[in-house]
Amino acid sequence: MCGIVGYIGPKEACPILINGLKRLEYRGYDSAGIALIHNNNIQVYKCKGRVQDLEHHMELEDTSATIGMGHTRWATHGEPNDANAHPHTSMNGLFSIVHNGIIENYIPLKKKMQDKGYQFISETDTEVLAHLLDYYYKGNPLEAITKVLHRVEGSYALGIMFADQPDKIFAARKDSPLI
Ligand code: GLU
Repeated sequence: MCGIVGYIGPKEACPILINGLKRLEYRGYDSAGIALIHNNNIQVYKCKGRVQDLEHHMELEDTSATIGMGHTRWATHGEPNDANAHPHTSMNGLFSIVHNGIIENYIPLKKKMQDKGYQFISETDTEVLAHLLDYYYKGNPLEAITKVLHRVEGSYALGIMFADQPDKIFAARKDSPLI
């Protein structure tokens, strides 16, 4: 069972996200990751293992951003490893997504996106959402998210960040809990 936590506010996001992920550890997970927006860039840190491993992984990085989201993964599609850990990003790094649940129709969607030239670097069902967001985004996040979710079958709780929307985290859910 994965966990998702997000923060936007006046404080440094990273310690709050790490603390949130630690509080979700009891749910069980195989990898963990964090996405932050700093100077209109999305920074992603993720690795297989414990939240503590993620902390070590980020130790020397500039994590002063005040917005971010974190994820602990319970693999359903693709083995537990660094590449399959969430967040997943689009090829240009402008979109980042964390997901709890299963995208049932990801195989045909992945094939269609590969035919359009999108390259996948993970084995997850989730990554297709990042590429679909890139495909549909024309400046209006809600419109793009709505279009993506109309294509998708399955269950999801999602956290989504856009590099050019540095003060927002978008959330969506269907048949998975998210507060
Ligand atoms: N299906 C996704 C994956 O395998 C999300 C798993 C989860 O809910 O943690 O990466």
